Amino acid sequence: MENLQTIFEQAKELTAKGKAASYIPALAQADPAAFAVSLMSMDYQIELGDCSKTFTLQSVVKVLSFMVAANHHGIEEILKYVDVEPTGDSFNSIVRLESKNNKPFNPMINAGAITIASLLPGKSMFEKVKSVTQFIEKILGKQVYINNEVYLSEYHSADYNRAITYILQANGFLKSDVEQSLQVYLQLCAISVNTSDLAKIALYFATNGKNSDAVCSKEVINISKALMLTCGMYNFSGKFAAFVGLPAKSGVSGAIIAIVKDGEMEHLKGPIGIGVYGPAIDEVGNSVAGIEFLAKCSKHYDLFCL
Ligand code: GLN
Repeated sequence: MENLQTIFEQAKELTAKGKAASYIPALAQADPAAFAVSLMSMDYQIELGDCSKTFTLQSVVKVLSFMVAANHHGIEEILKYVDVEPTGDSFNSIVRLESKNNKPFNPMINAGAITIASLLPGKSMFEKVKSVTQFIEKILGKQVYINNEVYLSEYHSADYNRAITYILQANGFLKSDVEQSLQVYLQLCAISVNTSDLAKIALYFATNGKNSDAVCSKEVINISKALMLTCGMYNFSGKFAAFVGLPAKSGVSGAIIAIVKDGEMEHLKGPIGIGVYGPAIDEVGNSVAGIEFLAKCSKHYDLFCL
């Protein structure tokens, strides 16, 4: 009889099949065998593995910065700068920025997220970053910090993202200059969390914002969930939606949030937030063990997404 613990143990074996991201030097130091999962409902929490480990949000932050920008400007204004269409390309692809329709396809790829970073409320880099950290702090009910080592490590090796940012500026999509847009984006990627924080963020979506004081319009929460379902797992999003069926967002640190609108998993009932950390990632950029864990859970338990 499978239970969460055995599903976790089985998924953990797959860490051997992935590798920690190496294009950001500081992320390459992560222990590829690490694997931890937190699952949270409104009144119960399950922790599997070492859930005290901290790591950076990386692309998971993209959905949160989108929410802050969309709440501030309204969705109609945001759509002038970033679309909500999946690409099927890798997260840092540059190719479509040169096509006739050169607007970034969605806020979950780097081009869209850097554009969103430039649209965040505030004039200075500090204010823009703070608009998102404050939103996250409201959800979590605690302060969050930026891992400066990871930020600087990525900043000094950000040739690809810098190239994307210059093209965005040349095409007129940036609301702040290249350096500020890039720095805001990279600082947000380096926000430090643990799996319990991820589960709480996921529960925020699962409860439509009812698990905390953080304010976000229902329209923006719904669009965010749709974006996660269609574009949240990079160019694996279609398969993940088909075979796992949960809105989710991953990051190259090995982080994943997954949202269960209504489900039953052992003592967890109703809306459930799942937070995963497994730094051994596949060639697309998703935690190998994390994908396996979520796929097995969705097969074994009744989980509803929308
Ligand atoms: N900071 C990373 C980057 O811009 C985030 C990418 C990711 O997590 N997929 O490359």
